[in-house]
Amino acid sequence: MDARAVLAAFKGRGMVGHLEALQRVADNNNGNRASGTSGYEDSARYVEDQLRAAGYTPVRQTFTYRRDDQTVETFNILADTAGSAENTVVVGGHLDSVQNGPGINDNGSGVAAVLETARWMKDAGIKPVNRVRFAFWAAEEDDLDGSGHYVNALSEDDIRRTALYLNVDMAASPNGVRSVHDGDGSDFGDDGPDGSKEIEDVFFRFFEENSLPAETTPFDGGSDYEPFLQAGIPGGGLFSGDVESKTDTQVQAYGGTAGRDLDPCYHEACDTLSNIDSALLQEMSGALAYVTAAYALAARN
Ligand SMILES: [Zn+2]
Repeated sequence: MDARAVLAAFKGRGMVGHLEALQRVADNNNGNRASGTSGYEDSARYVEDQLRAAGYTPVRQTFTYRRDDQTVETFNILADTAGSAENTVVVGGHLDSVQNGPGINDNGSGVAAVLETARWMKDAGIKPVNRVRFAFWAAEEDDLDGSGHYVNALSEDDIRRTALYLNVDMAASPNGVRSVHDGDGSDFGDDGPDGSKEIEDVFFRFFEENSLPAETTPFDGGSDYEPFLQAGIPGGGLFSGDVESKTDTQVQAYGGTAGRDLDPCYHEACDTLSNIDSALLQEMSGALAYVTAAYALAARN
């Protein structure tokens, strides 16, 4: 797989259309797309329609959880490629928004990256040796409930047959960075299971071959990779930043504004279609596609 060709392909893909669709969903549903709401249902229908149009058969995995004093019924969406289930590659991002905003960067951008990776694999004619399971999680914004439910429902055998998990939670932060999870904890101390360092390396290979600066970000438990890591499944993924202020060093690498939050609208009502960097979204999505394809095609034992 040629990293430069994958980036070029993603530079030609109109990914903002997915974000426009999710913004319309929020506009039609009280300004949000939170789990258990009509905005979540409409978000799900958009994703399912896109997957079906690309030749996938999406399935809902329904579950309930507690939010405040309420029982919420919601669901994840899963869609599989062909390929061996013995080395399943799970690629996901959370589909829900917070309750007080439309969640276009958090995590419409991650949804767009996962969806476009699924679509690109079909368009590029990639025939996975290992099954890829695309996942759109519910209730991340409550307590990682969707990914937690998925991992809890896996048997020991299912866990053994899950080769790795790739996560995207924010890929278009308007003052953002390109960051990759620190698989071996060499920069931040918290390492993932064996194999997580290799995932980090494959992401960096994509950015290096495209002369795009990138950095690491810690596994701090803040997104859907956490239940997978806790189950001993290697993990990795991408993050474009939220409440941290951009440093001078980061401005030199990526441009943007020093001293301003990487995402000034994180978890706020202003996380709209105007709160995104569409070029960054294409680069991050290309990276996700490259790493997904690398593991989908890898010979493993
Ligand atoms: Zn998020």
